[in-house]
Amino acid sequence: MSLDPNQIERYSRQLLLREIGGIGQGKLLSATVFLLGAGGLGAPVALYLAAAGVGTLVIADSDNVDLSNLQRQILFATPDIGRAKGTVAAETLQRLNPDVRVRAINQRVTGAILDATLPDCQVAVDASDNFATRYLLNAACLKHHKPLVTGAVLGFSGQVASFHHGIRASAPCYHCLFPNAPEQNNASCTTAGVLGGVAGIVGTLQAVEVIKELLAIGTPLAGELLLISTLDLLFHRVRIAKNPTCPTCGPS
Ligand SMILES: [Zn+2]
Repeated sequence: MSLDPNQIERYSRQLLLREIGGIGQGKLLSATVFLLGAGGLGAPVALYLAAAGVGTLVIADSDNVDLSNLQRQILFATPDIGRAKGTVAAETLQRLNPDVRVRAINQRVTGAILDATLPDCQVAVDASDNFATRYLLNAACLKHHKPLVTGAVLGFSGQVASFHHGIRASAPCYHCLFPNAPEQNNASCTTAGVLGGVAGIVGTLQAVEVIKELLAIGTPLAGELLLISTLDLLFHRVRIAKNPTCPTCGPS
């Protein structure tokens, strides 16, 4: 893919990077990424991927913008309150970068939606806020052989993990890491709170991991969990063990 003069200027700072260059930029512009959730994590993921010129973003979110979202969901502004998040996200991202096509899915994802969408995507991003959806996307990534980049945030803490279970049979999956969904409402930002900037850190790391996956550069976080505590500014990486009896990726 050849870049026009506008694109050469727009992407100049990353074209300078040996790991990206013109060939890498062409790969980004040709890529399609599935993003589940346009909330506190999905906002920085979408903004950085669109700014970097990831050509197509499929963004699924069934919610409307609420006043209480604006403290962390930086895709949205006060006049957007009450509008569908996917629709506003598409407008914001296309204003940022007209190279990017955004397809908004303004409904709760189902297995059928994932089956129709994931085959066209190179990477799936979990930026959702509930375990049922996380397990659903994790299983769909196995079925459609896609890498999965997940993030979670609560209070002043965050987690990033990515999974290659759809690509390598020996790799652990999200369900191996969390065999049981915690009690609902026990661990949600709605009840326990979250600092907006912490969602920004986690979502930004997810965006960087997605670009690494798309370009096959660096060492992916795959199979490891990054634990972030911003109050102490501690980052820890721990290896995720594959669960031989995992209901998703174990032998059936
Ligand atoms: Zn598993």
